[in-house]
Amino acid sequence: MKDHPADLAAAWSELVATARRTVTDGLVVGTSGNVSRRIRDLVLVTPSGVPYDRLGPGDTTAVDLEGRQIIGALRPTSELPMHLTVYRTTTATAVVHTHAPYATAVSTLVPELPPVHYMAAALGGPVRVAPYALYGSDELAANIGEALRDRTGCLLENHGTITYGDSLDQALDRTAQLEWMCRVWLAASSVPGRTPNLLSAGQLDAAAGRLRGYGQQDRDQG
Ligand code: 13P
Ligand code: ZN
Repeated sequence: MKDHPADLAAAWSELVATARRTVTDGLVVGTSGNVSRRIRDLVLVTPSGVPYDRLGPGDTTAVDLEGRQIIGALRPTSELPMHLTVYRTTTATAVVHTHAPYATAVSTLVPELPPVHYMAAALGGPVRVAPYALYGSDELAANIGEALRDRTGCLLENHGTITYGDSLDQALDRTAQLEWMCRVWLAASSVPGRTPNLLSAGQLDAAAGRLRGYGQQDRDQG
C-alpha cells in the first residue's frame, strides 16, 4: 500500500461521516445512496447495503479506477459504474449520490430543472435530468456522464441526485443546494394559475461570475 495509512483512515472517517449526514439531513432513507472519495488512483466507496451508522474503521472499502477491489471485504456500492464515470470524466475528488425527495419528485416531471434561482449557476447552469436506466447499470453511468457535461450535478430520472466536488463537504453542499432548488420550483409551480419566472442564460452567467468571488475568497492572504 503506497498511500499513507493515516491519510486513508482520515479520508474513510470523513466519508462515513458524510454518508451518515445524507441520512440525518433527510437526503436518503436507510442504506439508499452512496458516497465516494478519490485519493490519487484509489477510490474509497461506501459498501453496498450496509447502514452507515454500522460502518467503522475496519470496514474501509476501496477500488481502483477500473473498479477492482483494492481494500476491504465488503462488496462496494452497486453504483460503482457511475462513480467511476465521474472520476474518469471530470476533476472530481468526491461524489455524493442521494434519493433526495424533492429532487426525485422533480426528476419525474421535467428533462431539466427550470432555473428558478441563481444557485443553479453554482452547479454550472440549468441542472439536467439523466434519462432513467436500471440502478447500478453501465447505461445509467453513461446517461449521467452526458447529463454532467459542464455541470457539477444532475438529477437521475425516477431515482435521485448525483453531485461532485473538490471535497466531500462541497459535493454534499451541492446536493443540499440542488434539493433546495427543486423544493422551491415545486412550491412555485404548484400555485394554481401562475407560472414561475425563470432566469435567463445571461442572468445565470452573471451569477456564476459573482459566485467565483463569493464569501471570503479574496481575503485569504490578509
Ligand atoms: P448501494 O447500497 O449498493 O450503494 O445502492 C444504493 C443506491 O442508491 C442504488 O442506486
Ligand atoms: Zn440510488
